[in-house]
Amino acid sequence: MTPERDSLYRQALNEALDAGEAVLEAGGTAVDAVLAVVVYMEDSPLFNAGRGAGFTAEGRNELDAAIMRGDDLAAGSVTGLTRIKNPILAAHAVMTASEHVFLSGPGADAFAESQGLDTVGPAYFFTPERWEALEKARRKEAGTSSLPGLDADTKYGTVGAVALDRAGHLAAATSTGGMTLKRWNRIGDAPVIGAGTYADNRACAVSCTGHGEYFIRYAVAHDLAARVRHGRASLRAAADSLIMGELLRAGGLGGLIALDTAGQMAMPFITPGMYRGYARPGTREVAIYGDE
Ligand code: ASP
Repeated sequence: MTPERDSLYRQALNEALDAGEAVLEAGGTAVDAVLAVVVYMEDSPLFNAGRGAGFTAEGRNELDAAIMRGDDLAAGSVTGLTRIKNPILAAHAVMTASEHVFLSGPGADAFAESQGLDTVGPAYFFTPERWEALEKARRKEAGTSSLPGLDADTKYGTVGAVALDRAGHLAAATSTGGMTLKRWNRIGDAPVIGAGTYADNRACAVSCTGHGEYFIRYAVAHDLAARVRHGRASLRAAADSLIMGELLRAGGLGGLIALDTAGQMAMPFITPGMYRGYARPGTREVAIYGDE
């Protein structure tokens, strides 16, 4: 990564934190805070969500998102959106304006549109970096590339946020274009409640990124919440043992961000880096690599 891109990412992370912090400082809810952060990152071309989403094998964008509220376990998810500018707002609309939890494909697009959300054409989501990632993945698949191993940067980049508000409520939100080169309307973990996204005031709020198939099979977000709720492990210890123990042994790469009602945080990952940050009154940090 060039120094220029490094500082672009750090600036974007800080601006995303600004958006969430402004909501919480004004006495807003955790749900509104995670929405503000994720909308900011969906609008940024730097991340694999909204504008800047990764491409399917056919060169399209199919967007997934989920949101969950920790006080009453309300949740909303969407998968396979193709024309809603901010998928996380669609997930929020499912949570607040429908009697459902999970909508998919053209129906999910239509529902979001009926709720007055902004629509865009396919060109809106395009960025040269993600297209290049698709071409690289295609070459690799065709066996003509000499590029070594798993390229975490081209595969991941999902965005997520967790927040705790003044009333003591948690919320989690996740949004993604999914894995580059995905086919057959493949659905990752991000919109699957309990896999990539979960929030329960009795435990924690969690948002995951990584190789979605593993996160679904290990029900990572819910497993972390269950370990915290029923076990005696701290949030940090439980998150580390899941991501750096169980998942790593299984061969699943990724990471997560988590937060409990005491304000304890965990952000373990086993990729070369994970764009991340936190803000709490008086402190703030953003980081990319493991040794920061
Ligand atoms: N978890 C996402 C998926 O599997 C990918 C990512 O985190 O970027 O779709």
